[in-house]
Amino acid sequence: MNIAMIGSGYVGLVAAACLAEIGHNVICVDNDARKIEALSAGSEVIHEEFLPELLARHRGRRLKFTTSLHHAVRPSEIVFIAVGTPPCESGEADVSFIENVCRDIAAEINGHGPKTLVVKSTVPAGTSDWIRSVLVRNGVPASNFELASNPEFLREGSAVTDFLYPDRIVIGSSSATGTELLRRAYLPLTSGSYHGCVSRVPQPDDSCSPAKLIVTKPATAEMIKHASNAFLAMKVSFINAVANVCEAVGADVEELVQGMGSDRRIGTRFLKAGIGYGGSCFPKDVSALRAVAEDRGCDFQLLDEVMRINENQRKAFLHRVRDALGNLKGKRLAVLGLAFKGGTDDVRESPAIALVQSLLHEGCTIQAYDPAAMERAREEFAPNGKITFASSAYETARNADALLVLTDWEEFLTLDFARIRSLLRQPILFDGRNLYNPDRMQDLGYFYFSVGRREIA
Ligand code: NAD
Repeated sequence: MNIAMIGSGYVGLVAAACLAEIGHNVICVDNDARKIEALSAGSEVIHEEFLPELLARHRGRRLKFTTSLHHAVRPSEIVFIAVGTPPCESGEADVSFIENVCRDIAAEINGHGPKTLVVKSTVPAGTSDWIRSVLVRNGVPASNFELASNPEFLREGSAVTDFLYPDRIVIGSSSATGTELLRRAYLPLTSGSYHGCVSRVPQPDDSCSPAKLIVTKPATAEMIKHASNAFLAMKVSFINAVANVCEAVGADVEELVQGMGSDRRIGTRFLKAGIGYGGSCFPKDVSALRAVAEDRGCDFQLLDEVMRINENQRKAFLHRVRDALGNLKGKRLAVLGLAFKGGTDDVRESPAIALVQSLLHEGCTIQAYDPAAMERAREEFAPNGKITFASSAYETARNADALLVLTDWEEFLTLDFARIRSLLRQPILFDGRNLYNPDRMQDLGYFYFSVGRREIA
């Protein structure tokens, strides 16, 4: 099939590369000319496992890049919209990027339809109807386009395998033609016939069966995405609240999760205590769903609590650092991890960045290291010399008063902590992601602080 992907960010680019991988011809559009130039030249624009391989395999063949909506939309049967939907001040999702794209598309499909427009961006329930009205207002007869919602569930850090081996594919459409076209587009994933260059990474509780196809109304599809992210955020806040009680009563949250998660109705996934969730999705999607509920007069204060607990979790971590180190002014702190989670270079709404900002505000000097996110992180800080970026985890630790681990990168699991201890001024370790075994850290001579477990001091 011929497909256009409008928006070549974390979602659009991965989706486009994967759709090319399963046999489609995809033209990626972005209005960021530098990004398109870099993509056309083969440069890496985001850090994502397996993406370089897919891009190298399909670039210039089944996968093309352009800044011209015209060139992408005209030859395509399906036009995906994957532009950003950032939060407004009020917490509602800002759908102005989608509106701009729809206006531009309207000019392209007038007289060149019918086209199937598919919204992949995360949007509030009701957006499909609103898009229809935007297109009609811009002169496109309703008979000239089909509309579908197809929310994306990939996670940064494992985006390619998530896209190619999803648990489910959701199509929200009131048009049989649009649904049928998407059904065909995703057939290699729903039939299990995709056996390309990226293999499945088995997950705990993974049935390894092909993706389940869920066809529903657009508003339901839109709600599935918001409710899924809000639920996952709630799990994180729940376990963080439980972790705080664990600390108060002398229990261990990691052992608790094993006990709790052994119940198959609960499971252990996403019950990870730490400094809270972040990223470009959970915070904005929780507040967007909260705003939708409020707008419709529905009680959903549970989401306020989810957000409040998440915010407090960071503050509590900061207090812990302050309690252990005393006055932070002039302290030199080593920070491992700046991305909002391991496996990505994305620092949007990163709890690690927020914590580093607070520490800088308190007068600390920071030496930081992240395997992929340092370039993006640099842009988040004023160039005032109070933060420097090290070339390795070990360099970060040199002469620091304490080490803070803020992102769950896999490579942080296998660091040589005896070596790190010899580089630190004081063997103090704050683990914001519960990555390490407290007994082991005690054996290595650390004062070790984590979340919801006994302190070793
Ligand atoms: P992003 O900011 O990385 O990418 C959006 C891209 O759209 C940018 O490259 C931007 O330049 C481009 N763009 C904006 N306006 C445009 C226009 N008029 N024409 C062409 N290009 C335009 O955002 P993202 O993380 O890829 O998220 C996109 C959507 O997908 C959001 O709604 C998000 O909530 C949703 N989503 C994101 C994730 C994730 O993990 N990042 C997962 C699932 C869903």
